[in-house]
Amino acid sequence: MNIILFGPPGAGKGTQADKIVKNFNLYKISTGDLLREEIKNNTALGEKIKSKIDRGLLVSDDIINNLIIKILSKKKYYNSIIFDGYPRNLDQAKNLDLLVKKYHQKISCALNLNADKKTLINRILGRLVCTKCGLIFNKNFNPPVKKEYKCNLKHLTTRMDDKEETISNRFEAYAKKTLPILNYYADQKILHKVDGTREISQIYDEIRSIIASLET
Ligand code: AMP
Repeated sequence: MNIILFGPPGAGKGTQADKIVKNFNLYKISTGDLLREEIKNNTALGEKIKSKIDRGLLVSDDIINNLIIKILSKKKYYNSIIFDGYPRNLDQAKNLDLLVKKYHQKISCALNLNADKKTLINRILGRLVCTKCGLIFNKNFNPPVKKEYKCNLKHLTTRMDDKEETISNRFEAYAKKTLPILNYYADQKILHKVDGTREISQIYDEIRSIIASLET
């Protein structure tokens, strides 16, 4: 099955996706992570992407669609993807449907994770990401503990766009471009609402039972 994790910045999509891949036979595909990788390569494309991410704006659909084709066409990922942060607008959602059909796959559900704005902002400003293993933690709500985090603490960094100046643009892009997708998946009857204000483990328990019910 392929699953979409949908929600505003700071909703906990990446954190939940990491927990899902640990327990289900799925791969996390975060377009944000793929774009940040491209920036690291110091290419012209990377520069273009960086200028958008730095301002909290969406990267162009062409760039995103190219990344997604590469993933969906790989045997390794066949019907076993959890999308984190993709699709981000209606055109991307429609393009995803075309690609899924083309590669004989299916979107089984879209999980809509949400929380109030104050919680989202606190989570964004406290977020820590490991540059080595990619795991996500939070200074205030989910600090790294030895049991879960095996890398050296020096690898923990803050994301370049997790700053006050870009937050309002990111919320605006979400409200204007991303939110309209919800109706698209509601019409397809694959949308599930999940209360993202709770603790990580409580949210995950709900998500796990939704995914388990899809398998049967
Ligand atoms: P994320 O890691 O999902 O929070 O994404 C970080 C930034 O990457 C976003 O603010 C956008 O600038 C860009 N981005 C990530 N995914 C997409 C997407 N599917 N479409 C357009 N831009 C994206």
